[in-house]
Amino acid sequence: MAGRITPGQIKENNRQQIYSYIYHRRKASQQDMLYALRLSRPTVASNLAALEEDGLICKSGQIETDQIGRKAVAYAIVTDYRVAVGVEILRARVKMIAVDLYGEKLSREVVELHFANETDYYRRVCGEINRFVDALPVPRERILGVGISAQALASRDGRSIAYGAILDCTGLTIDIFEAELHLPCRFMHDPAGAAMSELWMSPELENAVYLSLSAHPGGAIINHRRIMVGKHGHNCTFEHIQARPRGELCYCGKRGCWDTLLSRRALVGEETLEDFFERVRTGDASAVKRWNTYLKNLAQLIASLHLFNDVDFILGGHLAPFITDADIRRLYVEIRQLCPFDETEDFIRISKMPSHNITVGISLPYITACLEELGVEPGKTEEENGN
Ligand SMILES: [Zn+2]
Repeated sequence: MAGRITPGQIKENNRQQIYSYIYHRRKASQQDMLYALRLSRPTVASNLAALEEDGLICKSGQIETDQIGRKAVAYAIVTDYRVAVGVEILRARVKMIAVDLYGEKLSREVVELHFANETDYYRRVCGEINRFVDALPVPRERILGVGISAQALASRDGRSIAYGAILDCTGLTIDIFEAELHLPCRFMHDPAGAAMSELWMSPELENAVYLSLSAHPGGAIINHRRIMVGKHGHNCTFEHIQARPRGELCYCGKRGCWDTLLSRRALVGEETLEDFFERVRTGDASAVKRWNTYLKNLAQLIASLHLFNDVDFILGGHLAPFITDADIRRLYVEIRQLCPFDETEDFIRISKMPSHNITVGISLPYITACLEELGVEPGKTEEENGN
């Protein structure tokens, strides 16, 4: 058996190569595939026919050929052949998104629903998800699964909440969601979801620390394009390192954790980020002072984490769109004062996906697994890999 490639495998490889080729280029003609994949015309033609019959690809207009004035039939993948859903549970609302095989939004909805760690509440959430799923322009059997985050750490297998102090939902299991939704479901730590989005948007990204700066700070370590979960599921929970042991009380019960210095509340109180940064950029003294303190604290955090893990740092979350190049230069100045090494200004950058990054990210593991099954290496397109 070993080393022998059966005719069945060759057939499957051809089919996967053709599908993958169309996926990455978005649109391709039969002629393109003949040249690029070095397959015979009958092989390409029969595979295209079979892929089309199975609903994986479709004809999509015409594209130019090398021969002037001649056009060829273009093939594209059926983008919603499979769909995944991401659900973010927050204290006052539930955010839902459905994405297609390109990780692109099919539909999105936010419902106001006040959290309570009670069966009735979870049933109501599931009712909203069911309604959202039923309104999608695809039949239910095309839904791969539902990724769920609840501002909490998930167990390694994604079947329970290992630590959910913000919403007080530690121990919650996925069973109630699966029973009500009749779909595969799994929990995911929200910063890990955000980091998944970043990986999806950045095919060149190998190693990084992702810092999510939203209502509460959180992080994820990306190692060789994988999110490190850790032996007990609490990797990169820097937010509970005590930066000021006699500081403010953290929701975890300890004092002066990074969360108390870098949460949105610590920065803006009850003000919106938009209003706060409007004041910062117009030189309002109290807002500028608060922002300077925040940047100084952030620099201290990055300096320590960077000494420990010398990789790129990505700043994401709701705060990310407000951070300017000048702010990043300020971070480097502060970091240089704290590090013994000559730190170059090349390791901090802003997230490429500041909005919907959590909901999209927690749905992506389903899309990635599906694409792998179809023979596609996800997260790369023609534009991105330069082919
Ligand atoms: Zn804490």
